[in-house]
Amino acid sequence: MASTCKNSLLYKNFHRHPAALLESTSGIYLQTSDGRNILDATSGAAVACLGYSNKEVQQAVIDQLTTVPYCHPGFYKTQSADDLADFLVQSTDGQMSKAVLCGSGSEAVEVALKLAKTHFSNLAIPQPERSHFIARVGAWHGATLGALTLGDFKVRKDPFLPLIAQTSSRVSACSTYRGLRKGEDEDAYVRRLAQELDDEFQRIGPHKVCAFVAETVGGSASGCAMPVKGYFPAIKAVCEKYGALLILDEVMCGMGRTGSLHAWEQEDVVPDLLVVGKGLGAGYAPISAVLVNSRLVNSFQKSGKSFAHGQTYMAHPQAAAAGLKVQQIIRDEDLVSRVKVMGEHLEKRLKERFLPHPYVGDVRGRGLFWAIEFVMDKESKVPFPSSLELHGKMHSRGMRKGYEVALFNANGGYDGYAGDHFLICPPFIVTEADIDEIVDRTARVIDDTFAELASSSVW
Ligand code: PMP
Repeated sequence: MASTCKNSLLYKNFHRHPAALLESTSGIYLQTSDGRNILDATSGAAVACLGYSNKEVQQAVIDQLTTVPYCHPGFYKTQSADDLADFLVQSTDGQMSKAVLCGSGSEAVEVALKLAKTHFSNLAIPQPERSHFIARVGAWHGATLGALTLGDFKVRKDPFLPLIAQTSSRVSACSTYRGLRKGEDEDAYVRRLAQELDDEFQRIGPHKVCAFVAETVGGSASGCAMPVKGYFPAIKAVCEKYGALLILDEVMCGMGRTGSLHAWEQEDVVPDLLVVGKGLGAGYAPISAVLVNSRLVNSFQKSGKSFAHGQTYMAHPQAAAAGLKVQQIIRDEDLVSRVKVMGEHLEKRLKERFLPHPYVGDVRGRGLFWAIEFVMDKESKVPFPSSLELHGKMHSRGMRKGYEVALFNANGGYDGYAGDHFLICPPFIVTEADIDEIVDRTARVIDDTFAELASSSVW
C-alpha cells in the first residue's frame, strides 16, 4: 500500500503523488513550501468556488468561532444554521420544504437514502419492502458504505464488497459520447434509457424499489457526462409510474457550478430529494445538505414519526456560518451568471485548443464544469490501458515546477466506460485571463506528457 503522505494510509488512487505541503493560498493560487505557485483549475475538486482568500467568509467563520463554536444539534440550533436551511429551501422556489445540514457529501447521501427508506415506512399503508436503489454505471456517490453501494468506482468499492449491502443495481448513464449509438437521435436514446430503467424496475420488482439515484451531471468517475434534453423527465416518469423516488446527487455539479444554482433547474425535472455539498461551503468549512420535498415532509408529519438519525456534527455552527456567507456572496454578486459567461469562454478555449488533439476524444461540460477525455483512437474511442495511469501522469506533471496547474484526474474507475479524463472546474471568480492561463498550462501538460510517452514508446 502506498503511503505518499506522512502517516497516510490512503489508497494510492487518492494520494497518487507526494502530497505538496501548502504554506499559503491567494485567490485561485496555492503556494507550496518548495516555491510552486499552483493555479487551481479544479477548485480542489469542484469545491473552492470563491477561491481561497475570501475575507468575508473567513470573518463569518471567525465570528461564529468566537461566539458559539459548537452546539449539539439535538439540543440547540444557531441562527446561521437556521438561515442556511431557509436559504436552501427558498432557492428551490417552493419545490423543497426542508433541509438537513450534514458534514460531507457522503454523509448527506447516507441521509438521503435513509430519508427515502423512512418515507415509505411512514406512509398510511407502509411499504417496508422498498429497500432497493437503482443507480447508474460510472456513478460516484461517496466513500461511506451506504454511498458505496450506489457507486461504480471499482477500485474504491471492491475491497469492501463483503461489507456493502447488496441493495442496489445499475442502469446505463446518459452519456452521448459513450452511450449514443451511431445513427440514433437523442429522442430515441432517451426512450432507450427510460426503457432500460423500466426493465430494471420489472427485474427487481417495482414494489421493492425505493429510489433511482443519479448525479444530474456526472462528476468525477464519468467526467461530466451530460444529460440530453428530455432524459430526466423520462426517467422521473418511470419512477412515478412505479411509485419510487428520484434522488439527485448534486454534490459536485450543484450550487452554481453548471450555470444554475441547482443543476436540475436546466433539466425540466424536480427531484424528491436533493443532495448538495462541496461548493455549498466552498471549502471554508465542511458542509453538505439534503433538501427534502413537501411530499416526504408530509409523510413524516402525518405519521408523527421522527427521522431516526443523528450525528454529533450535523448543522455545525462554523460550517453553517461558512455556507451561509458563501451562498449570500454568490447571490449578491450574481456569481451564477458569471459562471455562465466565464463558462462560455472556457468552452470555446477548451474546444478550440483540445478537440483537434489526436488523443482527445471528447471535451464536454456546462458552466464551469468541464472534462477532457483521452482515447487511443478517436474513431473506436478505445481508452488508454488503465495500467498506463495516463491521468495520474498528467496530474503529476501539472504539479511540477514550470507547469503548476492542478488538474482533477480520474480514469472512470474501470476500463471500457470512460477513458482517462480530468476535470477543469475553476473557481467562479476566474477571469478570462485566468481561463486562458489554465488552457495554456493544461496544453503544455498534455503535449509534454504525450511527447514523453512517444519517446519512451510505452504504448
Ligand atoms: N456525490 C458526488 C456526486 C461526489 O462527487 C462526491 C465527492 N466527489 C460525493 C458524493 C462524496 O462527497 P464527499 O467526498 O464530500 O464525502
